[in-house]
Amino acid sequence: MKHEAMTTAPADAAARKASKPVICYPVEDLPRPDLSAYRALRDDLELVQTVTVPPRDAATWSVPQGHFCRIICSEGSQVGDLNLFNAHDLKERLYTGKTRALNGTHVGTGDQLFSNFPYLRPMATITHDTLDWYGFDAFGGAVHDVIGTRCDPYTHNLLSHGGQYHHCCHSNLTRAFAHATDMPLHEAEGYIHDVLNVFMCTGFTRDTGQYFMKASPVRPGDYLEFFAEIDLLGCMSACPGGDCSSEHSSDTAACYPMVVEIYKPEGVPEGWKAPAVNGYDRSHGL
Ligand SMILES: [Zn+2]
Repeated sequence: MKHEAMTTAPADAAARKASKPVICYPVEDLPRPDLSAYRALRDDLELVQTVTVPPRDAATWSVPQGHFCRIICSEGSQVGDLNLFNAHDLKERLYTGKTRALNGTHVGTGDQLFSNFPYLRPMATITHDTLDWYGFDAFGGAVHDVIGTRCDPYTHNLLSHGGQYHHCCHSNLTRAFAHATDMPLHEAEGYIHDVLNVFMCTGFTRDTGQYFMKASPVRPGDYLEFFAEIDLLGCMSACPGGDCSSEHSSDTAACYPMVVEIYKPEGVPEGWKAPAVNGYDRSHGL
């Protein structure tokens, strides 16, 4: 709320405010993966590809179904803005809104990343996170959020009264995705979606509810690892904000490359079945 309340509080305001929150989607209702079956494969992984994401730029890569993907902090504290697509149907992509509703504002080991409607199925399962010790800090901040969107030149233009900046994550992702798919730039732009903010430390202020960021706790050697539930096309920007301790959409923050590694396991997780697209019949009551 950005203005003083103009309405007098009702007599039972305190009672109304005291009603307890209810979790919208209890985790008990969510089919959860058997994490131990996934993790059992991690003892025998073969590195099959390494991709470097240049600072203030983006790169794409493929992760075959059943492979693991590690996003690694290689040289310095740096956050990455990640998009995920079904490699065979680019209309199916990461849906951070529902991923957030199901898992919470920040994701970590054991959480699954869901795709958009009408597919709504797990695209990836997070199998390891070296920042899992962080939890929530005293400010309410945590890492790997699905609440931000990505820094973009339109918001920058709005807030800077006309500024033009071309290396926001949105533009970096757009260029890399256009290059990978041979789409014209403006067509490619329409596929870029809200991101998983890998390593970024964010939250909402308790007093004003505003989205905040703070210096990422990530250090070289840290990584976030996920298992590809379907064939994936990944696209990630090494944010021009670097560790996002001060600002983004800038050429002044210290920025570092990031590394992506793809690993092939010996088999599939015991009892694992490839997720089918969502079972809703799509008749919508007609
Ligand atoms: Zn960014």
